[in-house]
Amino acid sequence: MDEKPIDKEDILKELEEFHKLDHDYSDGRILGSMCTEAHPFSKEVYCNFLDTNLGDPGLFEGTKIIEDKVIESIGEFLSIKKPYGHIVTGGTEANIMAIRAARNHARKYKGIVDGEIIIPSSAHFSFKKAADMLNLKIVEANLDDNYKTDVDSVKNLISDKTVAIVAIAGTTELGLVDPIGEISKIALDNNIYFHVDAAFGGFSIPFLREMGHELPVFDFSLPGVCSITVDPHKMGLAPIPAGGILFREKEYLDVMAIDSPYLTVKTQSTIVGTRLGASSAATYAIMKYYGKKGYCNLIKNIMENTKFFKENLEKIGYDVICEPELNIVAFNHPDMKTNELADKLENLGWKVSVAKCPVAIRVVLMNHLKLNHLKELLEDLKEIY
Ligand code: PLP
Repeated sequence: MDEKPIDKEDILKELEEFHKLDHDYSDGRILGSMCTEAHPFSKEVYCNFLDTNLGDPGLFEGTKIIEDKVIESIGEFLSIKKPYGHIVTGGTEANIMAIRAARNHARKYKGIVDGEIIIPSSAHFSFKKAADMLNLKIVEANLDDNYKTDVDSVKNLISDKTVAIVAIAGTTELGLVDPIGEISKIALDNNIYFHVDAAFGGFSIPFLREMGHELPVFDFSLPGVCSITVDPHKMGLAPIPAGGILFREKEYLDVMAIDSPYLTVKTQSTIVGTRLGASSAATYAIMKYYGKKGYCNLIKNIMENTKFFKENLEKIGYDVICEPELNIVAFNHPDMKTNELADKLENLGWKVSVAKCPVAIRVVLMNHLKLNHLKELLEDLKEIY
């Protein structure tokens, strides 16, 4: 640390130099991010709530009401009247909370100590963190030919140690929705906790379904679903960090409760202690400001761009891995290794992301990727071809 205080102007100048090294969403060059620039209104609200701490909700009763209302509003489009949950830092924390609830529940009611979780091989790596932290073993279900969770594989992996089954509504790499209805039934029949990771798809599938897109039901209307991750800081246009975890029953929060002696509340179920109220306030603001109509329009435009990009990729000879269900297009060059193609694109200034299964370039069509950016990308891909 510097010995003497430094002038504000000098500090800002120095910080700006660092900031210039960052990529900007508005350049339209970031192709693989599942986050995007937050809406200006939600950023404004965020700043107004920077000092609120939901780790001590008795001191911030108003902001706690906001968090509860946000969870309730998200619950409305996930088919549940009274969900229990929190706005957390992101999908990772939400998934860890869900797995922790499942583990504790199974330990309390079934006496399972060396638990296992069944996740598809398409699951986000946050479940590996959860398993590591919670001392659980991961058993990986296969994918079918369409890169979705193979239902029979899940069934075959169930044992008397299974504490949770996980399925994905909007996979990280391909944006696909698992056969969640079938897996919900298996979980229910076997009395196993079922978590749906809709971190990416949670803010788009309900609106797409409402507009007539044929996507599977993935929410609390399925009786086996115990919890859902849904992230406002992805397709919800809220500022980072804003993840969401919703539980069907209060009991799932209760089994995680730890005494919190010096605070205004007696117990705490979240992983972190001190936590931002700003995320809840900013999410509340953007959800009110957009409404269902706003989110429908947003995803409608994005899906039109997705279709445009996919069709034009095929026209110029690229192989598209699968029909996009959500706003992700994954593709390969017919005669070039994926990494070689990725390098060529990086050299042209694109920030590329490569999927692992199958190996392919993946483009996540977030709100910052506009039609003109896609046309520029297609031009470059044509040149490369
Ligand atoms: N789940 C899914 C399906 C994701 O795609 C991601 C991130 O992209 C996560 C969880 C983790 O979310 P976060 O990076 O916000 O922790």
